[in-house]
Amino acid sequence: MSGVPNLKLNNGVEIPQLGLGVFQVPPEQTEKVVATALEVGYRSIDTAAGYRNEEGVGAAVRASGLPRDEIFVTTKLANSDQGYDATMRAFDTSLAKLGLEFVDLYLIHWPLPARDTYVQTWKAFEKLYADGRVRSIGVSNFQVPHLQRLFDETDIVPVANQIELHPNLLQAELREFHAKHRIVTEAWSPLAQAQILDVQPIAALAKKYGKTPAQIVLRWHIELGNIVIPKSVRPSRMKENFEIFDFELSPDDVEVVSALDNGQRTGPDPDTFNMA
Ligand code: NDP
Repeated sequence: MSGVPNLKLNNGVEIPQLGLGVFQVPPEQTEKVVATALEVGYRSIDTAAGYRNEEGVGAAVRASGLPRDEIFVTTKLANSDQGYDATMRAFDTSLAKLGLEFVDLYLIHWPLPARDTYVQTWKAFEKLYADGRVRSIGVSNFQVPHLQRLFDETDIVPVANQIELHPNLLQAELREFHAKHRIVTEAWSPLAQAQILDVQPIAALAKKYGKTPAQIVLRWHIELGNIVIPKSVRPSRMKENFEIFDFELSPDDVEVVSALDNGQRTGPDPDTFNMA
């Protein structure tokens, strides 16, 4: 029993509320890192074509001996592959690298509004979904106007939007919009890349609950209903980040963490980010 709850997506598919992110995990280490995570109990892995480590993720999933339907695999379309035909080709490449027959969740990595290709890209995602090659389709780093445009010009509502979200960046407007439209909020850099772990209010809560600062921050996400995908290559931290389902933060303490919101990003602004 892992204790990790599943959240139901708007198409009925279930996703574990906690997974392992593998951004910046070196390709040659990825199989081992993911194998360790699966041993710890993680059943959801978040990769991307752009991370160049899909091979290692797939190898670990295939070697785990676990039934394929017990592991939730997310990958993302590289920015350079946006557009209908390019997306179809890129998906084949990702699947081949993973060595899997399907992915559980396929995400548009960034909206790249200046390029204006995300609507066509989403239509390719809809086709992949209709063909049963992905179990669910979603987006990442989309702002409200980008989501609104998908609603206006395409048929399927994304199951999830994976956005930068941590105590310094509460994303209140997007989370409210997601809730209204049955889009699950996935938090990337949920620990703000470990930059917020030593701030005083979090250290104080760690002491109060007998938990580590990372566990306090991850539990805060769980209380908000977010999916979290913390990254670590260290087995001890993977375990630490996994052990957040045996306690709860009080509503007042959730507010204490939320009060750290200062709008500060660790990553790029989706409205202007335009990198291939
Ligand atoms: P995180 O907030 O998960 O922080 C990761 C950093 O924190 C690493 O340096 C890690 O070091 C350290 N760390 C992890 N656990 C602990 C702990 N318990 N105590 C102290 N330090 C800890 O940042 P990421 O940017 O990696 O985001 C997580 C995932 O989100 C990514 O791996 C990726 O899957 C996804 N992501 C998606 C993006 C998108 O555009 N959609 C953009 C960025 C990330 P160490 O490994 O040495 O333990």
